[in-house]
Amino acid sequence: MAKQVAKKSPSIGKTSAKGLAKAEWLLIKGGSIFTASESFSGDILINRGKICAVGENLDFGGPAEIIDAKGLEVYPGGVDAHTHFSLPFMGTVSADDFETGTKAAACGGTTTIIDFAIPARGQNVSKAVEAWHQKAQGKAVVDYGFHVALVEANEKVLAEIPKLVKDGITSFKCFLAYKEALMIDDAQFLEVLFAAKKHKALVSVHAENGDMLSWLMKKLTDAGKTGPQYHPVAHPALAEGEATHRAIVLAKMAEVPLYIVHMSCYEALQEVISARLSGQMVFAETCPQYLLLSDELYQKSGFEPAKWVMSPPLRHVSNQQPLWEGLSDGFIQTVATDHCSFRFKGQKDMGKGNFLKIPNGIPAVGDRINLLYTYGVTQGRMTRNQFAAAIATNPAKLFGLYPRKGSIVPGADADLVIIDPKKKGKISAKTTHHNVDYSAFEGFELKGLPVYVISRGDLIAKDDKFIGGSGRGVYLKRKTFDPGEWGVQKG
Ligand SMILES: [Zn+2]
Repeated sequence: MAKQVAKKSPSIGKTSAKGLAKAEWLLIKGGSIFTASESFSGDILINRGKICAVGENLDFGGPAEIIDAKGLEVYPGGVDAHTHFSLPFMGTVSADDFETGTKAAACGGTTTIIDFAIPARGQNVSKAVEAWHQKAQGKAVVDYGFHVALVEANEKVLAEIPKLVKDGITSFKCFLAYKEALMIDDAQFLEVLFAAKKHKALVSVHAENGDMLSWLMKKLTDAGKTGPQYHPVAHPALAEGEATHRAIVLAKMAEVPLYIVHMSCYEALQEVISARLSGQMVFAETCPQYLLLSDELYQKSGFEPAKWVMSPPLRHVSNQQPLWEGLSDGFIQTVATDHCSFRFKGQKDMGKGNFLKIPNGIPAVGDRINLLYTYGVTQGRMTRNQFAAAIATNPAKLFGLYPRKGSIVPGADADLVIIDPKKKGKISAKTTHHNVDYSAFEGFELKGLPVYVISRGDLIAKDDKFIGGSGRGVYLKRKTFDPGEWGVQKG
């Protein structure tokens, strides 16, 4: 990387709007810096929340706060493109709100989240978005954007798309599962794809065949098979493979890019690989749970398996290796969490006696970077550059936040996660920042932990402690999807 030095001369720290003394200049010295495309040793100079220079031995004459990053690794701050904070779902509300959820995110090295505003059927979509703004504003401690889920695709709903895109909501999710709740049919999905094409928005899809799932659920419960261990039986990998294939075909017909959320299995990955090899712009996201946990957990006794009831469910362990390879081969671009936490006591147990009533989801937003670093980077499954791409750069590029987020270049927001590769830890419900009474990754050993997390130049977390201001996160108006970021000409 070419040396880029600050041109402006530094000034002495002033008092910030909140009345707290705050250095205007922050210098991160001597770290090993990794981006999606480069690795180098150097310094990063930050002024008023923005990166203003990156280079070796930055000559800085004035007063600055200095973080000594010798022996540490510096990455772009994490971008988790899939969270559900304060989501009303299955008769309850997800346990982490924008405050607890983003604090956990921050401690784990994630400095941007994109949550899903999900309207009820018949509800004005912009009303739902307004409700999500209310949930987040003044509570989120990291920056945030919103996707919108379209749970119906009638004229009224589609007419709202241009205004939503103008307001920075440039991606729309459709569910091919959750029949009679969130699911839309193929004709409606096509309506969304064509509307998105017109307004340059990116469509994402929850790909499971909702009819197959409903049929299986009925067969199982009619036969008295109502325990939590039957949840994965009602969500076979075949149903995900089929819906992934169908979504890809429909997107091909509409000639639009497609993003597959929370891909969990080989059946779906195969569809993505063959679409990409044929030149179709299909992107995929997976999650730490699908890389590291398997369906053996559903064999635990009693109601315990409910902790991992999520859709798609955990798969057979044989799916993990292909997903890791998909990540390192570039067929899977992002690792998000689908964080949707429910307390084991008081929420998950709503489904005691009927697995269909167990709120779906797990806590993960604070664990994502730790897990991917330990089990991806240190175990040689991905390079440090691929890690930077998966946790930050690719989601920022896909969802219209790049280069403001997901990059370490002058002009970008100073969002950084600084990892001590030697530091060890262990995941436990006792130490988690998630607002729940269990951990989905209990006992997982970690090697390489975030020691400093910086958001817009503020040191917001240090050694797993949140030390930032309350409600400091800002709403991110996202740009529309840019195919040029993926080597495809515009137009
Ligand atoms: Zn989700």
